[in-house]
Amino acid sequence: MNNKPKIGVYVCHCGMNIAKTVDVEAVSEFASRLPYVKVARNYSYMCSDPGQQLIKEDIKNEGLTRVVVASCSPRMHENTFRKTLAAAGLNPYYLEMANIREHCSWVHENREEATAKAKKLVYAAVAKVRLLEPLEEKEVEVEPSALIVGGGIAGIQAALDIAAAGFKVYMVEKTPSVGGKMSQLDKTFPTLDCSACILTPKMVDVASHPNIELMTYSQVEDITGYVGNFNVKVRKKARYVDINKCTGCGACAQECRLAGTIPSEFNMGLGKRAAIYLPFPQAVPAKYTIDKERCLFLTRGKCGKGPKCIEACAAGAINFEQQDEIVEFKVGTIIIATGYELFDPAKKPEYGYADYDNVITGLELERLVAASGPTGGEIVIGKGEKAIVPKEVAFISCVGSRDESVGKPYCSRVCCMYSAKLAHLVTEKLPDANVRIYYMDVRAFGKGYEEFYDRVRREGVRYIRGNPSEIFKRGDKLVIKAEDTLAGRTLEDEVDLVVLATGLEPRQDAREIIDILKLSQSADGFYLEAHPKLAPVDTATDGVYLAGCAQGPKDIPDTVAQAKGAASSALILLSSGKVKVQAQISNINEATCRGCGYCVEICPFGAIDLVEVNRMGNIVQVARVNEALCKGCGACAAGCFSGSAQQKSFKDQQILPQIAVLGAMK
Ligand SMILES: Cc1cc2nc3c(=O)[nH]c(=O)nc-3n(C[C@H](O)[C@H](O)[C@H](O)COP(=O)(O)OP(=O)(O)OC[C@H]3O[C@@H](n4cnc5c(N)ncnc54)[C@H](O)[C@@H]3O)c2cc1C
Repeated sequence: MNNKPKIGVYVCHCGMNIAKTVDVEAVSEFASRLPYVKVARNYSYMCSDPGQQLIKEDIKNEGLTRVVVASCSPRMHENTFRKTLAAAGLNPYYLEMANIREHCSWVHENREEATAKAKKLVYAAVAKVRLLEPLEEKEVEVEPSALIVGGGIAGIQAALDIAAAGFKVYMVEKTPSVGGKMSQLDKTFPTLDCSACILTPKMVDVASHPNIELMTYSQVEDITGYVGNFNVKVRKKARYVDINKCTGCGACAQECRLAGTIPSEFNMGLGKRAAIYLPFPQAVPAKYTIDKERCLFLTRGKCGKGPKCIEACAAGAINFEQQDEIVEFKVGTIIIATGYELFDPAKKPEYGYADYDNVITGLELERLVAASGPTGGEIVIGKGEKAIVPKEVAFISCVGSRDESVGKPYCSRVCCMYSAKLAHLVTEKLPDANVRIYYMDVRAFGKGYEEFYDRVRREGVRYIRGNPSEIFKRGDKLVIKAEDTLAGRTLEDEVDLVVLATGLEPRQDAREIIDILKLSQSADGFYLEAHPKLAPVDTATDGVYLAGCAQGPKDIPDTVAQAKGAASSALILLSSGKVKVQAQISNINEATCRGCGYCVEICPFGAIDLVEVNRMGNIVQVARVNEALCKGCGACAAGCFSGSAQQKSFKDQQILPQIAVLGAMK
């Protein structure tokens, strides 16, 4: 190590973000008097081109060997300044940042105290930077293929983009067909395009593209490896139908003894299916699946004199001997597009969803208004003689959104608009109906959304500001008890049909992917992006990206835009063919390691193994880091009892002097 480092300290004003609360002149003057500091400057925006130029010139002209930048969080600009050092010929890891924005100016009001703290942080950074060692960024080859988990519109779009660029895509979809929730929609706001007309061609493209290997009714079992080199294990669940033989004719379903008795998931339970079924007529692939939880032959071992489906299938596709199949393959990058679930309105018992047939959800109404739905597009509630065509229809917004009482404080972003869309479709199909929407406030933020909201009001849909407190039955009618907060009166509104605009929530099974890929969740439970503004499709796991509602509620335009963003990030990796892996990784001193295995247990990335080594004639176990897997989180270094695990750039001998100066400064 150079005994006489020459340190440059650069204090950023961040416009007025820092300078308003921290005396940046005083901090740089203080820094100029610290040991080994050759130059100390302050500038309005250090991350700007002239700011970076200042650093580069000083490295060249003053012969700086270490750099401290006192500005924002390293998460924001550490990479920017590392590149600055590298461009000036210095090892990029000779950089230390003092976060005087988030840790000083943003959290303190008193200028004197904030300035004193900024000085301390700069002093601590100076104490550490001279002890930093040069690190080398290693490159690994990238497997030229991608895995997409989830075959909704997000996954479909990302798969098509990556495949179009010439790379192999493996798409894994849990259910028997691709399409996701969009396939259940009738029309889409604000343009009222027929959902199936814009989605089904893409579903067909995914299944027929030569670069896409589609695995429906399949599940990711395990993923190991690291960016550029992931090993994937997928379980293809037994359909008990040979999809290479099935022609999708449907003769089997007609003959099934349970035909018309099992609630159809696609039709939200409003229609019925057989135990052997095609989820919906436009399903891709158009292949039948046997529901093993319901099929009489699979659950009871007999189905009359023998399964009728076998007799009915002219192609001989039914195979009750079929087993789950495990397939394994390698990919360079992964996109998670697993979408969302809907809030269960039974959790708000005051709305009577579990009690009354004429309280339904928005998605159930989507199926009722759809020509391909269980009623052929007619809005009818109930069956037989009791069936009614509703005349008084009410929508209730924000059911399971913006509601702390059910743990959903966030806005689901699509409910205001899908309520407006469905209200329009009701007035179109039932011109005599009176439609009103109970709302808290209307969020019509997208392109053409405000105009659509205006149109719906012009069509006669009434908006009543107020959250209903209760729904109960009076005779044949439902009574909504609410307060009209604009008119300042309480009301009891008698209606025939209530539609609950239920919010979007993370999938119940989201943990499966979290456990496999070590992803993080945000407070609302959706998968967490690496940075909300600068890395909205990245995750903390390199090479793994997010698309669509898996990351948070969004409409179709935003879902498609984000899927394209994720595909473009994946393509940067795939097309460059190589990727740099984390340099600030952990290192275990095998000479002092006791082989206790605690670090193996606590490493969240599975990056440490116990290996046998010969220590002076004795075979002993020691821990060893897989450098490509290590993410440099430091858990092993913090947990190691013997101090043998140390993280590069955060070694004890580099951190302790930092702590010492912080303790020494009053
Ligand atoms: C009632 C209603 C009406 C709407 N109307 C509109 C509209 O008119 N216009 C509009 O812009 N938006 C609308 N939306 C929003 C729209 O539904 C979403 O924007 C869109 O579906 C998001 O697509 P996605 O691919 O992210 O998720 P999803 O559609 O949920 O698809 C996710 C897919 O991933 C699969 N999956 C999940 N987990 C796994 C796993 N572990 N492994 C493999 N596969 C998995 C699922 O089976 C599913 O196929 C509406 C939403 C609702 C509730």
